[in-house]
Amino acid sequence: MTQAVPRSGPYIWVTWLSKLLVGDVSCEWAAWFKAHHKQYAKMPSSLDAVGWQMNHTELLNKVWGDLDDQGKEVLTENQSSFNIRGSSGTMLGGRPDIVALFENETGGTVYDVKTGQPRASDQAQVMIYMYALPHWNRFQGMQFDGRVVYNDHEVAIPHSAIDDTFKKRLFALIGRISSQDPGRKVPSGSECRFCDLTSADCPERVDEEPSDQDEMEVSDF
Ligand code: SF4
Repeated sequence: MTQAVPRSGPYIWVTWLSKLLVGDVSCEWAAWFKAHHKQYAKMPSSLDAVGWQMNHTELLNKVWGDLDDQGKEVLTENQSSFNIRGSSGTMLGGRPDIVALFENETGGTVYDVKTGQPRASDQAQVMIYMYALPHWNRFQGMQFDGRVVYNDHEVAIPHSAIDDTFKKRLFALIGRISSQDPGRKVPSGSECRFCDLTSADCPERVDEEPSDQDEMEVSDF
């Protein structure tokens, strides 16, 4: 069994934040643990994950091809991945699916492709990329819009969405995940089954799926 190793400083991956930011998940401890440890054991990927990966790649290639046909300068995830370090020492890392630059390189559009059901966290993820990219290497000083692409529709996010309120919430969450105090742990069947941490690191992990059959009767209504 892989033994988790403490990191030298907090490292946060964007996708750990987006679901917490909009309340799609509530267990901050998972992100806190991963921010402070590396080489931790992970739950095995399912066959579903392989199918998801292939669907995602197919849609990604389609979006990439459409943008390329339009003559846009298109950067793939390996060309636009970033690591930015805050003054607190916390590192924020991410890898947008696609970044399409405007011709004059004053900015562009961040694309993220989603093959599942639309979630608010999809937009939050893109918004964190829109905040972070202008602080990274060749994108410094640029301004980005965002676009979440689903199989049957797209959601546009204007650059104005990265306002003070959004940044305040993002920085507060980054502060809690970076803190030496462990984040709140919220074990539940519905959340733990999507968490990649094993019971070796989180003994409270709940592996039983919630059942629709679980119910109790009351006489009040
Ligand atoms: S297994 Fe469950 S309780 Fe443990 S960190 Fe993951 S979501 Fe939280």
